[in-house]
Amino acid sequence: MSNQSIGVRVHHLRKTFRRGEVQACDDVNLDIAQGELLVLLGPSGCGKTTTLRCIAGLELPDNDDAIWVNGKNMTRVAPKDRNLAFVFQETAMFPHLTVRRNISFGLDMRRKVNKAEINRRVDDAAQMLKLQQLLDRYPRELSGGQGQRVALGRAIVTEPDAFLLDEPLAALDAALRVEMRTEIKLIQRRLKTAMIFVTHDQEEALTIGDKIAVMKDGVVQQEDTPHQIYHRPVNLFVGTFIGSPPINQFQCSLQDDGTTWRLISRHFNIALPDSIAQRLKPISALVILGLRPEFLRLGDSQGDFTGVVKLTELLGSRTLVLIESEGEEIRALVQGASQVKEGDQVSLSLDLDKAFYFDENGMALI
Ligand code: ATP
Repeated sequence: MSNQSIGVRVHHLRKTFRRGEVQACDDVNLDIAQGELLVLLGPSGCGKTTTLRCIAGLELPDNDDAIWVNGKNMTRVAPKDRNLAFVFQETAMFPHLTVRRNISFGLDMRRKVNKAEINRRVDDAAQMLKLQQLLDRYPRELSGGQGQRVALGRAIVTEPDAFLLDEPLAALDAALRVEMRTEIKLIQRRLKTAMIFVTHDQEEALTIGDKIAVMKDGVVQQEDTPHQIYHRPVNLFVGTFIGSPPINQFQCSLQDDGTTWRLISRHFNIALPDSIAQRLKPISALVILGLRPEFLRLGDSQGDFTGVVKLTELLGSRTLVLIESEGEEIRALVQGASQVKEGDQVSLSLDLDKAFYFDENGMALI
């Protein structure tokens, strides 16, 4: 624990509610270095908020050594003595105080920070958050996005050891969310403070995180860089939760036809490159092949299998093509506008080097 570059360490965190009936956090381990932005990602009820509240001191973990900040055990330390800043989805502002006073409120309470220092910090934060013109306004005169900036400003001026953000952008409209997440990342880069950011939005997680911890049922499934999480999911849950549109899944069996190993599904019967077969065959005869829609190639002949186009959707620079094959829906993402239209028969080729291979329990095989 002497490693000072670790800002926040969550150590075998367990938290149960209702006398053990609900296990909200089940042996959660996380390391967030100073200057690092970790995203806690997962579906509703997976334990993200409880983890964050335990770090903040708003919930008491079951174990006594669960929360460490800058090498100190904070598990039983009062929230106000942890020097952490918490930003929620909804900002509670004092309606009768100006933006400036709302931002400085936490500091006004601290005797050791003098007036000039408070003003300096508020002005710095206002500049970072583009709030300079709004400092004399009252909360009712702000938009939702501006309100969230004030909440961030309030956190920044306390110069915390770590920022804890619980779905801070969830109440904003889509365009503003995208703008604000970039700003939060830039601010965090500038301040070089540890930040833990909770969201259930996988796109937000991929864009903002230095690392992502994907949670399910109180358990961290994978903690890794966005690139690894996207391209090397450890299990089917992570593979399907990340990525939009989601991966295609094919139930396959692995069979030796005497000369090559073949992957056989209701859609296709294809020879596996030796490099992949050698790694798969000792492990499992049943394989779930996962393929991101961008790694499925469309053509008019010589593919691995065929289907009929049900729908095309233009998604800006790319087009999502929904294809029906053997009664199942397959998703392909193509660059630019689609060359195919509804009702067309198309051939599909799998990029086997880019595919994921899971066993029947959904654990990654290679
Ligand atoms: P969401 O995205 O919906 O906020 P979450 O991932 O943040 O979900 P938590 O709020 O941490 O999930 O909840 C984890 C589990 O613990 C859920 O099953 C929830 O019902 C339960 N839980 C949370 N707080 C309490 C509480 N005070 N009493 C009982 N159960 C609780």
